[in-house]
Amino acid sequence: TEPAVRPPIAEWDAGTASVDAFPEVGELEQRLGWITDSGAQNPYFRVHEGNIRDTTVIGGRACLSFGSYNYLGLSGHPAVNEAVHRAVDRYGTSVSASRVLSGERELTVELERALAQFLGVGDCLTLVSGHATNVTAIGHLVGAGDLVLHDSLAHDSILQGCALSGAARRPFAHNDMGQLEHMLRINRSRFRRVLIAVEGAYSMDGDLVELPAVIELKKRYGALLLVDEAHSIGTVGERGRGVGEFFGVERSDVDLWMGTLSKAFASCGGYLGGSARMVRWLRHTLPGFVYSVGLTPANAAAALAATELLTAEPQRVRALRRNSELFLGLAAEAGLATGASADTPIVPCILGDSARTLRVADALFARGVIADPIFHPAVAEGLTRLRFFVTSEHCEDDLRRAVSILAEEVSAS
Ligand code: PMP
Repeated sequence: TEPAVRPPIAEWDAGTASVDAFPEVGELEQRLGWITDSGAQNPYFRVHEGNIRDTTVIGGRACLSFGSYNYLGLSGHPAVNEAVHRAVDRYGTSVSASRVLSGERELTVELERALAQFLGVGDCLTLVSGHATNVTAIGHLVGAGDLVLHDSLAHDSILQGCALSGAARRPFAHNDMGQLEHMLRINRSRFRRVLIAVEGAYSMDGDLVELPAVIELKKRYGALLLVDEAHSIGTVGERGRGVGEFFGVERSDVDLWMGTLSKAFASCGGYLGGSARMVRWLRHTLPGFVYSVGLTPANAAAALAATELLTAEPQRVRALRRNSELFLGLAAEAGLATGASADTPIVPCILGDSARTLRVADALFARGVIADPIFHPAVAEGLTRLRFFVTSEHCEDDLRRAVSILAEEVSAS
């Protein structure tokens, strides 16, 4: 079920022996073969034929979607599209240089001001990728002689940043503040800097960081704190301002608020928010910023329009919360295993083994419901699951229908 436009492997592979140096290629082929052999449709790289909000079209068929980060339906919103058209007409499709040199545009400056205001921080810096933002930020902030303590469920981009930095790295059990305290106590004096890296909302389990406790510990031990708000910005807190708003903490108690523009902000890119002095230092020295191009005008305009909409229409966040609570409540009522999910639009349905997870995902797809199957190694074996991203755009009937189809297919599996 490869998209028709992609040539079959054999055709473009003839005569290239270099893959033999990579046993990993064969391992991937085995994994993909397992899916084909199971008789299920390949859930990867499905081609969507338009914008994804509450629904999506695949192969000419409308499906109910729980697979996108378009949490607030702002990707495809007319005001966002209109802002993008205007930006492209005025600035073209690329800023064609690093921002430090010829790449600066008023649009991006305005976006960073709006984001800083939205986040309640001194200043904000945007980069072209959320993943690259964590890699370069962590790679830059710490180095040999430093230590990163991160939640065991931290995103790949945090781990890649640690690897790049050369700092020592130790995971603490998910949200286990006792273990984090223990690690700080025994390690703090042995390292120059200690950076604690956590996420606002965890993307596999749909639970929140215990932010007040983390802040108390980082202060007590003189550590730095980075909070990745990829899934919590725009979705958590009364007005969508993330876990800082949800827990009512001083924004300055977090050294760097990291987030992505690709989810609630309906665009593409990442940001770092913090004190004006810290951000100015990063603006002049952060490798992934200084040596990379600035956001495209289209991406900057989309994120700016989305930030303005989010500020003007906090009811979108309330609708998202209402939908998330309804979905989670219905799933729990149906006896589904939703794990630790709470206060976020991410609801897992833990099925426990890969074959069963694939079977249920496939059955849902056949009935027009999209939810991502998550296998090992993305989650521990035994905790494989389907993951649902609820949006503000789903209607109550659709949420009820989805949970009832899910419950039927889980019990039949
Ligand atoms: N951090 C977390 C926690 C994420 O979940 C993701 C992507 N899902 C990223 C960073 C990377 O963001 P992007 O996809 O915008 O590059």
